[in-house]
Amino acid sequence: LQAQFDKTLHLPAAMADGRRICMMINAGLAADSEHYGGGADGVGLYRTEIPFMIQDKFPSEDAQCQIYKSVLEGFPEQPVTMRTLDVGGDKALPYFPIREENPFLGWRGIRMTLDHPEIFLVQIRAMLKANIETQNLKIMFPMVTEIRELQQAKRLVLKAHSELQEELGMHFPLPQMGVMIEVPALLYQLRAVADIADFISVGSNDLTQYLLAVDRNNSRVASLYDELNPAVLNALNHIAQECRQYELEFSICGELAGDPLGAILLVAMGYEHLSMNAANIGRVKWAIGKVSQAQCDHMLQKALNLSCPDTIRRQLHVDMDAFG
Ligand code: PEP
Ligand code: MG
Repeated sequence: LQAQFDKTLHLPAAMADGRRICMMINAGLAADSEHYGGGADGVGLYRTEIPFMIQDKFPSEDAQCQIYKSVLEGFPEQPVTMRTLDVGGDKALPYFPIREENPFLGWRGIRMTLDHPEIFLVQIRAMLKANIETQNLKIMFPMVTEIRELQQAKRLVLKAHSELQEELGMHFPLPQMGVMIEVPALLYQLRAVADIADFISVGSNDLTQYLLAVDRNNSRVASLYDELNPAVLNALNHIAQECRQYELEFSICGELAGDPLGAILLVAMGYEHLSMNAANIGRVKWAIGKVSQAQCDHMLQKALNLSCPDTIRRQLHVDMDAFG
C-alpha cells in the first residue's frame, strides 16, 4: 500500500468522479514544500507557538520575521495560514510559565494574547513584514469564544498594519483573517463570525475535547476521545452547512482530516480543504480517489444514523472495502 500512497502523493487530490479536494499541510517549524516531500496545495495551519517553544525568550520581531519569511517562501505560489500564538493548555513556553488548575479551560490562545497586545502586535508586525514579497499569508486566531475577541484581534491586526505603513512609508498587503472553530460556543455564532471573518478552519482536536469534555492528553479517558463520536460528526456537518449558507470559506485542520475514513466523511459533508500532517497526505489522497461523491454521501448518511463511534468505524471499513 505504501507504494500506492507514494504514487498518489504527487497527483492532484481528486475523488473517483473527479471532484477536486485541496490537501494542505499542518506545520510548525521550517515549512518548505521540499522538506515535506511536495504534494500539498499550501499550508492550512502553521503553528507559530512551535518556534516560540524552542527559544529561551520571546523571539524578537526580526527573528520572527525571518522564520515566517522562510515559511512563506517555502510555498510561494500557495496560501499559508499562520495561526497567532496558541500557548497555554498543554503548550508551555519555558520563559512564560502559566500555572492554573484547569489549563485547557484557562488562559490560552487568543485569551492570553489579547491580554498582552504587545506580544500580539509584535507577532503581527513580523508576519506582515515577512509577507511583503510572497503575499500568500492568511492569519488565523486560536481559541476564540466570543465575537468580541474576534473583533479585538482584527482591530489589533489593522492597528499593526496601519502603524507599519506609516512607519515605513510603504504599502503592505492586508492578509485575510480567519478563526479556528474549536470552542463549541462558536458553533452557534457562525452567522456573526461570517460577518467579520474571511474564513474559518475547524480545529477538530480541541473541538472534540471540548464537545465531549474529555482531556485530549489523558490516557485514562482516551477511549472516550473519539473524533468519530456522533456529536463531533454532527457538529462538523453543522459547521459545513452553516458556512455554505453564510458563504463563509471553511476548512479543517484537526487530525480527523488526516485519517482516510475521517477525510471521506468530511468531503461528503462538503469540506474541500483538508489540512493534515504531511505524512498523511499520500494515504488520504489514495482513499479519496477510491470513492465518488455519491458513495461518500452514502457512507456519511449511514454514519450519521449510528450512535456508537466503534460501530461507525466498523461500518466505514466495511463500506470502504466494498467500494474500494
Ligand atoms: C486543533 O485543535 O484541532 C488544532 C488543529 O490545533 P492544535 O492541535 O494545535 O490545538
Ligand atoms: Mg487547537
